[in-house]
Amino acid sequence: MAAVDAALAKVRNIGIMAHIDAGKTTTTERILFYTGITYKIGEVHEGAAVMDWMEQEQERGITITSAATKCEWKGHVIQIIDTPGHVDFTVEVERSLRVLDGAVAVYDGVAGVEPQTENVWRQADKYNVPRMCFVNKLDRTGADFFRCVQMMVERLNATPLVLQIPIGLEGDHIGVVDLLEMRALTWRGETQKGEDYAIEEIPADLVDQANEYRDKLLETLAETDDEIMVRYLDGDTFDVKELKTAIRRATIAGKLNPVVCGSAFKNKGVQPMLDAVVDYLPSPLDIPAVEGVATDGETPMQRKPSNSEPFSGLAFKIQTDKHLGKLTYVRIYSGTLDSGSQVVNSTKDRKERIGKIYQMHANKREERPSAQAGDIIAVQGLKQTTTGDTLCDPASPVILESMTFPEPVIQVA
Ligand code: GDP
Repeated sequence: MAAVDAALAKVRNIGIMAHIDAGKTTTTERILFYTGITYKIGEVHEGAAVMDWMEQEQERGITITSAATKCEWKGHVIQIIDTPGHVDFTVEVERSLRVLDGAVAVYDGVAGVEPQTENVWRQADKYNVPRMCFVNKLDRTGADFFRCVQMMVERLNATPLVLQIPIGLEGDHIGVVDLLEMRALTWRGETQKGEDYAIEEIPADLVDQANEYRDKLLETLAETDDEIMVRYLDGDTFDVKELKTAIRRATIAGKLNPVVCGSAFKNKGVQPMLDAVVDYLPSPLDIPAVEGVATDGETPMQRKPSNSEPFSGLAFKIQTDKHLGKLTYVRIYSGTLDSGSQVVNSTKDRKERIGKIYQMHANKREERPSAQAGDIIAVQGLKQTTTGDTLCDPASPVILESMTFPEPVIQVA
């Protein structure tokens, strides 16, 4: 694998899906807060993190209106693609689901599974988008983590893999038991730089429940994996690394949905959730080659996630920026896209000239000379391209219009 393709293994293109009010915006903002300050950790004096947070709050407009936002977490690139939750935007949600590789479903820990989550979940089933779950708002009166997990089974036909159980609920929600490491993470809360939790022993009154759920975890995982099943039945012990690898494989194959929890609003649980995104959700390399047809509209064609393939991409959103004018958001599936180059809009059979290429971050945009497979960027200068159009290399046209994600190919990092 070429080095630049290998870098793709560290990319996570994700969407955050939720019923309105479950906490999608808050969760996204907390992710941007933590990922935005990581490069400053250790350099700043006390209080600077709070300053950063306030600056980011002021940038809210950009954060929320940008169709795709890039951030970094522990050596990985996380690209958050906006997936509208509202039911009127169903078509738009479907389009974003073809653009993202994995998703985090955010639940209100009081309301549990709500109608819009059901809709989006079904669309994600249709496109085979691997998903994990974050049960939010555990600090709220009436929060019930286990009821929410049960609703995932009953209402979504999901296979939740509970990786954490809460320590306390409502006003007493102070942390979680991490069932892989068998340790307690207790939230530090509020705007903190560095880690948002402390590692402690499992509280004595939760040891039995933790053992019970650790067993359930192994049982659920064993059902997706013959080798683990044999060892589980033999009473073998498992190390954390091999469990993580098996969970990743099963998540990408759509066999289960890892579940973590907390309260985004109080900065509780967002960092372990980001760890789970990196550990369990797919990179562009884990997704099978996208399928399309040649310009005859019939001959099947494929584009692999590699820079050595001809360029292909999908325009998934058009936005008007007050400084830059019309911006077309493009998910690149294969090859390289250079600023100033000519491409074909194969859906409309038109040539297009690529203007400037921008990488959108939470609080800034960065001009790039080119972009590669797996990237999600905004392009200036496209005149005729509309949402859903395929852009490709004029020498090797392909139409991705009819693209779906077939059964994923597993590639464990
Ligand atoms: P969205 O509609 O899914 O984007 O939801 P928001 O992020 O805007 O959150 C809806 C409301 O719930 C806001 O008033 C948030 O402050 C609040 N909220 C979000 N997360 C939490 C949480 O963990 N605990 C509590 N108590 N409130 C929360």
